[in-house]
Formats: sequence, C-alpha cells, structure tokens
Amino acid sequence: MAGSRLPHAVCVELARQAIAEGSASYQRTAAIGRAETFARSLLGPVINATGVLLHTNLGRAPMAVTHPATAMNIEFDLRTGDRGSRQQVVGSLLAMLCGAESAMVVNNNAAAVLLVLAATARDRQVLVSRGESVEIGGGFRIPDVMEQSGAKLVDVGTTNRTRLSDYRKALSRKNADVAAILKVHPSNFRVEGFVEATTVAELATLAVPVIADIGSGLIDANCPWLAGPPPSWLHGEPAARQSLDDGAALVTFSGDKLLGGPQAGIIAGRSDLVALCMQHPLARALRPGAHVMAAVQRTALSYLDKTATTVIPFWAMVAATTDELRARADKIIAAAGIGAVEPTQAIPGAGSAPGSTIESVGIRIAGDRLAELRACTPPVIARTRDGCTLLDLRTIDPDSDEAVVAALQRCA
Ligand SMILES: *Cc1c(COP(=O)(O)O)cnc(C)c1O
Repeated sequence: MAGSRLPHAVCVELARQAIAEGSASYQRTAAIGRAETFARSLLGPVINATGVLLHTNLGRAPMAVTHPATAMNIEFDLRTGDRGSRQQVVGSLLAMLCGAESAMVVNNNAAAVLLVLAATARDRQVLVSRGESVEIGGGFRIPDVMEQSGAKLVDVGTTNRTRLSDYRKALSRKNADVAAILKVHPSNFRVEGFVEATTVAELATLAVPVIADIGSGLIDANCPWLAGPPPSWLHGEPAARQSLDDGAALVTFSGDKLLGGPQAGIIAGRSDLVALCMQHPLARALRPGAHVMAAVQRTALSYLDKTATTVIPFWAMVAATTDELRARADKIIAAAGIGAVEPTQAIPGAGSAPGSTIESVGIRIAGDRLAELRACTPPVIARTRDGCTLLDLRTIDPDSDEAVVAALQRCA
C-alpha cells in the first residue's frame, strides 16, 4: 500500500474498510486494490484525446488557474488605500470586451442566471418561450432555477414556435407584472422543421428588459482575435457583443466554454441591472475566489491584446491547422512504432454549436485499448470507432505529445 503514495491515515482507513467487508484470505489484496483505486481517482491531469474540445467530464476549457501564495489586491484600492471591489477591474475588462456598460463574475453561468433573476425579478413574472424552457444538463433546468430565484415563470408560445405576438399578449394580460423576458439558448440540442423563434432584436422592441442566457460565452461573432474569418462551425452561435448590440439588457454566459477561461459565470450589460446583481445578498455566496478572478482577467486581457490564440488553450486548439495536426501525428506514430493517421471530426462540446464538427486528424490503433490508455500516467482519454481506438490530435496539448508516445508504446 506504500506504493500508492497515499497518506498513512488514508491507507489505514481503506484497510479497515477492506477488513470489514472482505473474507480473511484476500483482505490484503483487497486493501491494496482499494488503495490503488483510490490513488488513481485523486484529481489530476489527464490527456484529452477524445476530440471533444470542451469536454464537460474533463473540466471543459483547459485553463491554468494558479496564483502564488501571496496576498493580492483583490479588494484593495492601491490608489486610495481603501477597500475595493473584486468585480471592479475584471468587470470593466469584460465590459470592454463585449461592449457592455458593466459586467461582473460569479462562479458559473448557473449562478449568473440565478443571481440575475433573483436581483431583477423576485416575486415578479419572467416570460420564457416554451421552446426555451430547457434542461442544459447536470441539473440546470430553467423552471427549477426560476423557482429558486423567487421569480415567477410565465410560459409563452409553443414548443416549436414562439412569435413576438405571444410575448406581447403575455405583457398585455390583466394582472401582468412582467419584470423581464428571459431568452435561453437551447445549447445542447437543435430543433428542426416547423420552428420559429423570436430574436433578441425583436424582443428588445418590447417594454421590458431582455435577459439573454447565451450559455456558450462566444464574445464576438466576428472573432477578431483570429487571423482569418470566424470558423464555419461557429455559425449561428449567439455572441455576447451582438446580443447586447441587438438590445439585450443583460447577457449571461459561462467562463469555461467558448470564452476559454476558468469555470466562471459572466453577467454583462446595463450598469443599473449589474449593480442590482452586485448588491444582492446572493452575490457574496456566488463570488469566485481571487485565483479565478485572476484567470478571468488574464483571459480578458488576451482577447483585448489579440493574443487569445496563444494564451487561451481552447483557441489554440481551434487555430491549429490540419497540416500541423498531421505533422504531429506522423511524428508520434514514428516515435511510438504503432498507429496510423486518420482524418477525424472533432466537436466543440459543452453544448456549444451542437451538431457542428471541426476537421481534425487522429491516430488509429487496432482494437479497443481505452482501458490501457486510461491506466497510463497521465491517463489518456480516447474514444473508439469501428472497433478501433482513436486519439484526436486537436484536443491534445502539443506539450503532451511525448506522453502520448509513451502511452502508445504501452499498447504496442
Ligand atoms: C452551459 C449553460 C448553462 C450552465 O452554465 P454553467 O457554467 O455550466 O453553470 C446555462 N445556460 C446555458 C444556455 C448554457 O449553455
């Protein structure tokens, strides 16, 4: 059990569990097995070879969230020496980035939606299209979040078609007390056929604020941080800047999806509404720590100085050409002495641009070798296709190529 490198106290506890459950003859083996399983389940780095760029089970956007163990001016105004706000500077960078009056950061987008509704619509009505009363996964369901916020959900339209006139009707009902319209991007599915939705621009012509939960966190549909035009797979994905330009009063989105930053939720838009969110008692419970704020700051700065494709690992993955990926695949195969190059289709993941694929390059090895690859250090997470195992180069950090060679050699 010493080999597991677990603290002694943990080994003793696992041994006790094994003794309590097992038969005397294999208690020792059972205890060692438990220790090994436990040691391998500790949080640690893995190699994402799945071809899913934002893999929810692998932590979505890879982004370093580190900070030396020093004090930080997180709530300290260096100019006056007075107490400051942790939202001030990071919020203003995010506001510049998406063309908003004001912005703030919370722990994730679920928290952002909850806080916005609680701060702007408690005990009042919020209109939601029946086609957008969705579940995003992992327990995020619009009616449930609405209930927790204290706002009253009013369904409008139908599952497949909701028109501006449906919202108008709800607004003009007797006893209507509508605080806002919530427009939710149905991130992880696509409805096709006889469908009709109302745009943010149309909704913004009505008398109440429009809150757009765009989910994915694409900052600007034009992707000015990329060398070329926006990639085609992003087509139709809502963006923060354009949603605000179209008249949304607030947008909310995740920090670790297309934004490519750490796990966080961003609220951006009208400064009076952002101020209500900042002043709400829940804001304290939902605020991120200094290391996350620093990582969001680094992410925002890299967009603003156009270094996003080198500083943000997600955009580096997107920007890699298939020629570069093929060259890396060739090199890995030559070094490992196993595998063949195969064209693949990567996907954005995390509910972003559902149904879209990104051209990519993989290494194919015969048979299902997923378990052996997972058993490597660091574990390599791949996928199978047509009875073969496929490692997609687009989601593998080039710095991990040597570890991939070592993992493949174990499979040879
Ligand atoms: C992903 C998503 C959420 C939840 O965001 P988290 O950051 O995971 O909390 C909420 N709404 C939409 C539309 C999403 O796509």
